[in-house]
Amino acid sequence: MSYLYDFWDDFISLLFPRLCYGCGNYLLRNENLICTECYVVIPRTNYHNEPDNPVAQLFWGRCPIEKAAAFSYYNKGSRIRNLIHNLKYKGIREIGYDLGKLYGSSLTTSGFMTDIDMIIPVPLHPSKLRIRGFNQSESISEGIGEAASLPVEVKALTRVIISATQTKKSRYERWTNVERIFKVTDPQTITGKHILLVDDVITTGSTIESCTNELMKVANVRVSVVALAYATV
Ligand SMILES: [Zn+2]
Repeated sequence: MSYLYDFWDDFISLLFPRLCYGCGNYLLRNENLICTECYVVIPRTNYHNEPDNPVAQLFWGRCPIEKAAAFSYYNKGSRIRNLIHNLKYKGIREIGYDLGKLYGSSLTTSGFMTDIDMIIPVPLHPSKLRIRGFNQSESISEGIGEAASLPVEVKALTRVIISATQTKKSRYERWTNVERIFKVTDPQTITGKHILLVDDVITTGSTIESCTNELMKVANVRVSVVALAYATV
């Protein structure tokens, strides 16, 4: 029976090959969405073991972030970039969950998550959420939350305006541009909490800065941040 099943499975794979969303190679029968090689060779920043890392430095003098880290680097043609593209634009939300879980277990083992109370994904504007159907940062958060046994809070913070494009602007212009993009809608839930903000990619840091400024209007809130990838500009 098993032999017949395997035969049938191989036959279907011939007609409809399953390809890895990171590198495009054929997936083996025991692989799902991402091949083993991708899991192994995607470069890790290990920033969670290095408090003064480049992502943390991005926020120096801008907003008081407790801890900051990113899973990998967002380079052109990189596997993590392909994976994030497939997550965001092809709607394969399991990619976010799987990578979130993988990263979440490293973060938990290293002690990074010890004093975190809850996870908040960077919200999408409701109109964008309607078009995309889901928030990619929420999928990543669910994976991290699963690995770290922490709740994911999606109702406390909302995006009130869609930001204009951030490129070719000075840091001051970007800052003024992103002010008041987000709004805390449920201060009670986050009062006194250490929040882990989760984004897919960190580039200039202005989105995180804007979220943090808004969250910190609530009493005794502390903010840390992680992303799947860090893009150097
Ligand atoms: Zn692969």
